[in-house]
Amino acid sequence: MKEYAENWRNDFAIPKPKTEEDIQKEKEMLAELGIPTFKYHPNPLNTGAFEISKEGVTCDCCGKTTEIYYEAPFYAVEDIDYLCPACIASGKAAEKFDGSFQDDYSVDDGVEDAEKLDELIHHTPGYCGWQQEYWRAHCGDYCAYLGRVGAMELQTLDVMDEVLDDPMWDDEQKEMIQESVNGGHLQCYLFQCLHCGKHLVWMDFD
Ligand SMILES: [Zn+2]
Ligand SMILES: [Zn+2]
Repeated sequence: MKEYAENWRNDFAIPKPKTEEDIQKEKEMLAELGIPTFKYHPNPLNTGAFEISKEGVTCDCCGKTTEIYYEAPFYAVEDIDYLCPACIASGKAAEKFDGSFQDDYSVDDGVEDAEKLDELIHHTPGYCGWQQEYWRAHCGDYCAYLGRVGAMELQTLDVMDEVLDDPMWDDEQKEMIQESVNGGHLQCYLFQCLHCGKHLVWMDFD
């Protein structure tokens, strides 16, 4: 099953545009691996927020052995080695260690509902940026994080125009997005609005 998971991860990596069937298949695969549905981070295995350990590791929160463990930032006073997906989804990890997965100041404005912020910072796996990770929002809600991209991936997904149509970026920054290379000095992070489907990026430098 693990090998299948690895293959699956490559098969579904960005920039392949996803069909409804792909998304359904992905959900089933994640459920089979014990990864709950994260509204704001739909494929945390694909984005590298979770890693697979064939031997299994011990979750610092529930003490259970888990083959899937969290690899992205967790802001807490205590040093936490491993967290299982269930302890993130339930909010137990955030509660137990008084931590969060996303800095609550590094998010877009325009989301009025405090429950949505709680869902994002206490129940959702974060992502690894070069610098401070920032979460985009649209249509009054936080967006789904889809993964790392560069200009080529944005072109392949046919979302470059959407991404550039964003008051967040000035002309110089728009040029930088158009010249970005995935894994390069300027990294773009792709988000999608859960309501209107618009794609947005965040970017930072190494
Ligand atoms: Zn756990
Ligand atoms: Zn929207």
